[in-house]
Amino acid sequence: MSTITLNQINTLPRAESAALLTGLYEHSDWIAEQALDARPFASAAALKHAMVKVLAKAGRAPQLALVRAHPELAGKAMVSKSLTAESTHEQTKAGLTNCTPEEFAHIQQLNASYNTKFGFPFILAVRGPRGTGLNKQQIISTFERRLHNHPDYELAECLRNIHRIVEIRLNDKLGYEPALGHEVWDWHEWLAQFSDAHEELTVTYLTDAHLKCARTIELGMKACGFDEVRIDAVGNVVGIYKAASHNAKTLMTGSHYDTVRNGGKYDGRLGIFVPMACVRELARAGKRLPFNLEVVAFAEEEGQRYKATFLGSGALVGDFKNEWLDQKDADGITMRQAMKQAGLKIEDTPKLTRNAAEYLGFVEVHIEQGPVLNELDIPLGVVTSINGSVRFVGEIVGMASHAGTTPMDRRRDAATAVSELALYVEKRAAALNAGSADTAKSPTSACVGTIGMLTVPNGSINVVPGRCQFSLDLRATTNDLRDSLMHDVLAELKAICERRGLHYTLEETMRASAAPSDAKLQALWEHAVQSLGVPVFHLPSGAGHDAMKLHEVMPQAMLFVRGQNAGISHNPLESTTSDDMQLAIDAFMHVLHNL
Ligand SMILES: [Zn+2]
Repeated sequence: MSTITLNQINTLPRAESAALLTGLYEHSDWIAEQALDARPFASAAALKHAMVKVLAKAGRAPQLALVRAHPELAGKAMVSKSLTAESTHEQTKAGLTNCTPEEFAHIQQLNASYNTKFGFPFILAVRGPRGTGLNKQQIISTFERRLHNHPDYELAECLRNIHRIVEIRLNDKLGYEPALGHEVWDWHEWLAQFSDAHEELTVTYLTDAHLKCARTIELGMKACGFDEVRIDAVGNVVGIYKAASHNAKTLMTGSHYDTVRNGGKYDGRLGIFVPMACVRELARAGKRLPFNLEVVAFAEEEGQRYKATFLGSGALVGDFKNEWLDQKDADGITMRQAMKQAGLKIEDTPKLTRNAAEYLGFVEVHIEQGPVLNELDIPLGVVTSINGSVRFVGEIVGMASHAGTTPMDRRRDAATAVSELALYVEKRAAALNAGSADTAKSPTSACVGTIGMLTVPNGSINVVPGRCQFSLDLRATTNDLRDSLMHDVLAELKAICERRGLHYTLEETMRASAAPSDAKLQALWEHAVQSLGVPVFHLPSGAGHDAMKLHEVMPQAMLFVRGQNAGISHNPLESTTSDDMQLAIDAFMHVLHNL
């Protein structure tokens, strides 16, 4: 296939330019054609986003028509060889033209169930997040999973998959490969081979798999051309790429390499590998920056093996707590023993505290871990603040009584009281969001509240719950908003218990301040994203990150990368594309050259 250039698309007469873009959207060339109104495009990413906007504005009927213009997966069109050239190429690459009779029958059955439920064909970008093709098993399990989706969500998911198909088709037309994105994608695969568990990704503090990850990152940093690489006293892997001159200040970046149990491959690790790729490119070109770049792969962020969340980044701000050392894991091994066994010098932990005066600040790249960027089809997001949070565990106590003989108006049911509180949290957070300037025009939430644990100890099918234990997790973009939500929720808890004749206990287990991004560093991310021709979208971080810890001593700002599958995270379905990774690398490079 002969390739075309962005310059041709930008400068040729409209009809000729449109002709270059035929076949991007299946039997629907009008989308690319209308997007030409937004010429000139600063980048291929800008063209892609212009097409996304055309379809979003077109409304439901044309969107449905576009979805219905697609062939069924491994369907009749494939068998009768009447697919478009593009579709044939994609379905062949995924091995769909090579199904066993059983697989073929199963896919036909899925096609039928799917069409009955949704009224349109199942659409999946079968070339996958790296463009090299999903295998048949991945395709079939995605098909099975998506059958359970809500119809509106599923239509949107089909459209997102169509845009991904188009992204790859456009890359092919332009003869473009996100080469560094591919490599960084592969590095994640490589690191994911180390796990505490079989058939899932679990890497907790100082296990064998964890130590292998540290070693691998250490070797990787050396290969990238960092000047100094070391594993520090708590297991962080630290790489320094030195400045052009002595006495220069240092920019710190990084993220964590531990994972939750059965987690995703990109959470944390993306923020290590993106700057590593940048250093490798700089080293290859023999370029030095006017500041030192310190990339830290934090050993522990998730608090899985020990209750010591943010241990890795905490150690850098003098917040390593000695009482952690006596904590035991599920097998009775203390953290002290684990650290000694790993060859770490516990006595050196106080020396890890950084002198903030030597630093320009901290930046962190992280997968979004939420649905916002995916829903808007925007690859990168500039973080404005990491939400402040407060957590409680509590118990409501009523009276256990016979489910058959206790009249409805004489019950002291602890579980319905917690349920009432959960509904109030949902309602109150929504009301505060509706009134907040941050979220009035945005799909992000300025505050969120969750009752994630709700347990009736020794409950029975025929007993009115006498006790109910619960957790409460409240977060907001500012401490004020968090406190206002907390105040209302605690008042409601009291009122519910008084009205229902119950009593309760409540213990605060964690409180963390909101970490607003530094204006200068945030502006650097904004310029970087803008320079790539993709929209600059701001959002708060609902999750906590290492940047939150560094925020205690130095300015920080984060960049989010869109996740696939509605941005699901802490789950093996967590995913992002090599195209988006490439954009993150390009943005990071831009920041390095403009700081
Ligand atoms: Zn993370």
